[in-house]
Amino acid sequence: MSAVASGIGTHRGGCLCGAVGYVVDGDFARVTHCHCSMCRKGHGAAFATYATVRVEQQHFERGEARLGHFRSSPTATRSFCRDCGSPMFWRDDTREPGMVAFALGGLDTPYAEHSIGHIFVALKAPWHAILDDAPQRL
Ligand SMILES: [Zn+2]
Ligand SMILES: [Zn+2]
Repeated sequence: MSAVASGIGTHRGGCLCGAVGYVVDGDFARVTHCHCSMCRKGHGAAFATYATVRVEQQHFERGEARLGHFRSSPTATRSFCRDCGSPMFWRDDTREPGMVAFALGGLDTPYAEHSIGHIFVALKAPWHAILDDAPQRL
């Protein structure tokens, strides 16, 4: 018997060069496309897609020591691979204690949810058009 719902079970991910690898167990609390200017800069892209889980759901298989950390706001820290520069994690222990968000693009395992909500839409890049009908938050 499987307790896995919606194809979400154990996921594996890592950075572009492979130095950092991790496992995520269990359901994701939420997945969002974040259009804020910090995510745009940090990812060099129109938006960043993050899945948020409890910290105990996420474990490193290798390379945790290769991570660099950047405090992007008074309470939020973004972590990236120091070898290849891949953006990987976002944490805010003040506003979201016990939770960590990982960049969904780092997954090596399939994740097939299509309806991913958009947040910070008011700050989105003017050169990017949101063309799906997923929920939007300003
Ligand atoms: Zn890397
Ligand atoms: Zn953001």
